[in-house]
Amino acid sequence: MAETDRVLVPSEGSLYASLTIDNLSAGDAHRLVRLLDWLGERDLRATFFMIPYSFQNQSTLFEDAELVTAMQRGLDEGHEFLPHGFDHELFECGIPDLMAVRDEQMMARIARTMSRETFQLVHQHARGKIGSTLERSVRIFETALGEAHRPTGFRSGYHAFCRGLYFALEDLGIKWTSTRTAVPAAWRREPTVEADEVVSWVGLHPYWVGDVLEVPHLCNYGYHVSPDNIDLWVAVAQRHLRQCAREQAPFIAVAQYAGLRGSGDPVASRDLGFEAYERVVKMAREDFGCQFVTAGTIAEAALAKPKNTWPNRDEYRR
Ligand SMILES: [Zn+2]
Repeated sequence: MAETDRVLVPSEGSLYASLTIDNLSAGDAHRLVRLLDWLGERDLRATFFMIPYSFQNQSTLFEDAELVTAMQRGLDEGHEFLPHGFDHELFECGIPDLMAVRDEQMMARIARTMSRETFQLVHQHARGKIGSTLERSVRIFETALGEAHRPTGFRSGYHAFCRGLYFALEDLGIKWTSTRTAVPAAWRREPTVEADEVVSWVGLHPYWVGDVLEVPHLCNYGYHVSPDNIDLWVAVAQRHLRQCAREQAPFIAVAQYAGLRGSGDPVASRDLGFEAYERVVKMAREDFGCQFVTAGTIAEAALAKPKNTWPNRDEYRR
C-alpha cells in the first residue's frame, strides 16, 4: 500500500477531530453534567475515558447512581464512554511514557518505583495480569451501561504501555486504543517548542500492535492554562491542526475537568481551559473544516480500511 493511501479523513473531505475527556470516576456526576451541558451548547460529541474504580472513593462507576444517570444522558446525546485503565495507578498498564512525563515530581515517582520494583513490574505487566485487571474494567462498564455498551476502545493512564497491554486488550476483544501521545507536551502546563513537536515513532496516523489499532492522540490544550499562556496554547493547537491537514490525519485532543476548570489562582485563570478549548474548537471548524466526532467514530473509519493501510509497529511480537 502506498504511503499516500494512509489518510484518515471523512468522505466529504475536510478533517476528523475529536475531543477526548479523561479521568472522570465515581463521585464526578456534577462534573460530567457540567461537561455535557458545555458540549451540548457547542454541538460537540465527545469521548469520555472514565476511571472504572475510584481508589479515592473506594467505589466503582456503577455504585454512583447519579453518575450512571449522567452517563446514560451522555449516551442519548451521542457521546461515548470507555475505560481509562482500572484505577489509574501509574504502572497498572505498563511503564508510563517517559517522553510525556509532565513534571519533575512525577518523574521522581516513576524513578523511585522503577528502581525499587523492576522485578515486580515485569511480573505485573504480563499479559494475564493486565488482562485480569482490565477484565474488571470491562465488567464495570457492562454493569454500569449494559452489555450493549461493552467497550471496544480503551486508553491507559499516563500513556503507560507495554507488550502485555496490547495482548490483554486483544484477549478482551478491544479493537482500538488511544493510549499513545504523539507529542511530549501532552499534559504540560507550559508550552515549549520541543515539547509540541510530533515525534516520528508515534506519528498522527493509526498503527497496529498485533490485532489492536493504536490511534494516537495529541495534546491537552486546556490544562490549567493561565492568562499569560492561553494564546500560546491556541497557537500550539494551530500548529498541530496544520500538520493534521498536511498529513490528512485526525486531530485528537485531550482534556480533563480539573484542568479545564483551573485552580482560580489567580481568579482570572478560572475556567480558562474551557475558554482555550472554545477557541481551539472554533479554529478547527472554521479554519480547517474539522468535523468533531467521537474517537470511536474515527477508530471505526480506520478499522474499516484494508488492514495493510496502517503499518504494524510490532513486527517482532509473535
Ligand atoms: Zn488519565
